[in-house]
Amino acid sequence: MGSSSRERNERACECCFVSASTLFRVRSDANQPWKFLCQACQQTLKSTSSTYLYGGTWKKKKRN
Ligand SMILES: [Zn+2]
Repeated sequence: MGSSSRERNERACECCFVSASTLFRVRSDANQPWKFLCQACQQTLKSTSSTYLYGGTWKKKKRN
């Protein structure tokens, strides 16, 4: 606390670049690399891609 350093425990969504404590490891089809997306983008991809694949959830760990 009080530190001006950037948060390094959060990851940013690779679609909208919003930091999130939980990201979803997904890809739009089997030929695409895995991406970490926030829940909103994951839902969008899921609803727009018939080849959507889900590979797990990444969660920010608790305190160090
Ligand atoms: Zn996003």
